[in-house]
Amino acid sequence: SDHMLEYPRSPAEMDWSTHYPAFIGDAAVTSTETASSGIAARHPEVEVADIGCGFGGLLMALSPLIPQTLILGMELRMQVTQYVINKIVALRSQHHDKETSIPGTPTPYQNISALRSNTMKFLPNYFHKGQLSKIFLCFPDPHFKQRKHKARIASAQLNAEYAYVTRPGGMVYTITDVEELSQWMTKHFVGEEAGDAKELWERVSQEELDADPCVKIMSEETEESKKVTRNGGNKHIAVFRRKSNPDWP
Ligand code: SAM
Repeated sequence: SDHMLEYPRSPAEMDWSTHYPAFIGDAAVTSTETASSGIAARHPEVEVADIGCGFGGLLMALSPLIPQTLILGMELRMQVTQYVINKIVALRSQHHDKETSIPGTPTPYQNISALRSNTMKFLPNYFHKGQLSKIFLCFPDPHFKQRKHKARIASAQLNAEYAYVTRPGGMVYTITDVEELSQWMTKHFVGEEAGDAKELWERVSQEELDADPCVKIMSEETEESKKVTRNGGNKHIAVFRRKSNPDWP
């Protein structure tokens, strides 16, 4: 249950400086100096969200791939979220004297964080329109077949919400070992169940997926993907790109 969850009333209320102190706030390495126009330069924003991040394997593997991009894990279970937060604190301190691959970028693992949230309810409270370039839905619903429709992480309504927070050209990455769930998600992004959201997404080709390092990471580095590998299970991948619709919403 999520009745104890605290969540911001709007994205503007969210204080990200505690999540990414090396990027945002007084101690930030990156420049937040006033631009010559007199308008304060914008600080970096979260661009990548891992929805139902579990124990955070994806965050930790993505971090060095895109060290200048802020990545956020969102997880419903309190203890699991706390585990991820503690792990990130430990990784940051172990690597505090190391350089990242890009000069001038904060030390490793400063670009990842996690918070507790029910993403089926409060996603637009965290992100403004078009803020995200990537959303990951990795092994979102292992009990898919037993669940009621309203408890599902992909639906016409939710996919319209994902579309709202994702910028044109941005991507939603999905992976699951449950074939019916993959079909369900595809149907609700680009198929007959997508409703109005259908105009907002297109499926990304296999050729493009083969060349995308995020797909490889998603298939190998999350705790659930490792478990599926160990058990010899199948992994069904489907990725959707946000089309640009100037008229929507
Ligand atoms: N993505 C991780 C991985 O691949 O290892 C974890 C997969 S696990 C099977 C699904 C996770 O989604 C669980 O940790 C669960 O607590 C979380 N979850 C389920 N519903 C959620 C919701 N509405 N909001 C946020 N997290 C949710």
